[in-house]
Amino acid sequence: MGVKETFRGYGPEQGYDFLHDALVKYYASFGVAVESSEIFISDGAKSDCGNITDIFSNSNTILVPDPVYPVYLDTNIMCGRKIIYMNGSPENNFLPMPDESVKADVIYLCSPNNPTGAVYTREQLEKWVAYALKNDAVILYDAAYEAFISDPAIPRSIFLIEGAKKCAIELCSLSKTAGFTGTRCGYTVVPHALVRKTPDGRSMELNKMWLRRQTTKFNGVPYIIQRGAEAVFTEEGIRQCRENIAYYQENANIMMEALARKGIKFYGGLHSPYIWMQCPKGMKSWEFFDYLLENLAVVGTPGAGFGAMGEGYFRLTAFGSRENTVEAMGRFMEKL
Ligand SMILES: *Cc1c(COP(=O)(O)O)cnc(C)c1O
Repeated sequence: MGVKETFRGYGPEQGYDFLHDALVKYYASFGVAVESSEIFISDGAKSDCGNITDIFSNSNTILVPDPVYPVYLDTNIMCGRKIIYMNGSPENNFLPMPDESVKADVIYLCSPNNPTGAVYTREQLEKWVAYALKNDAVILYDAAYEAFISDPAIPRSIFLIEGAKKCAIELCSLSKTAGFTGTRCGYTVVPHALVRKTPDGRSMELNKMWLRRQTTKFNGVPYIIQRGAEAVFTEEGIRQCRENIAYYQENANIMMEALARKGIKFYGGLHSPYIWMQCPKGMKSWEFFDYLLENLAVVGTPGAGFGAMGEGYFRLTAFGSRENTVEAMGRFMEKL
């Protein structure tokens, strides 16, 4: 950037072609055909989860899982929208399914889920797509943890489900896949087949609306960061990311083994870096947080922060060093 001949200024708001091409190939590697013009490069999935609300009417009803990543709820509260919750609980393994008596316009799904680590199966996603098609709803599918899915039977993209291109937008991030939390890069796929009515009755592609929104309010991700993102999707990049994810997965295994030995009930940890554990001795989320901090000098995330249904639960992360994970679980075994 310090040399005139190679300097880059404003780029395409929706991302450079080289990164689009890499993503088209990446999607094809697990069986999804997307077009370059359906992909929008962004500075992360958090921004897009919030910004996407710009293309929907404030009179829309929003369906949000509880517990879940808090961004979906808070960004829609800022728009003053009506919000309906769908409860995750041990009865549904923290994977809420459509309720035919509920009429929603926009549905947020997150799989593998943050915070519970729960993952929807193909059959379950088929039911969600059927519900969305029947109700003219749009699914906002947050696949920030798709790279953690190791079972080929579990869809890594909503677009593996027939009909999904007519009712879903997929939001992805390089933060958890490749450690881009600080450098910032994500991508959102808005299929051309996704068409809805405007208030005056015209049919319009959401892709066109999102393109207009992005070109109006966003000037793109830095060239250098997009070159870094391109490297993630090379053969070598994918190999290195898999290696890192396997390391974190081993941390998750160590935590799951300790919890099982302690007889503590937990969810997730399999296709996810998160373990969602029930607080022992009937403790509430923050009570357990204080207990761990004061007695074990270990920290985690209180489940109540992810919604009312998270009360009494606690999220452990596998994104630590092996040494710290082993040490923390040693203290769990000894002092919990
Ligand atoms: C971390 C996370 C994000 C945010 O990702 P960024 O790309 O860093 O903004 C989005 N969704 C979920 C579910 C996350 O856990």
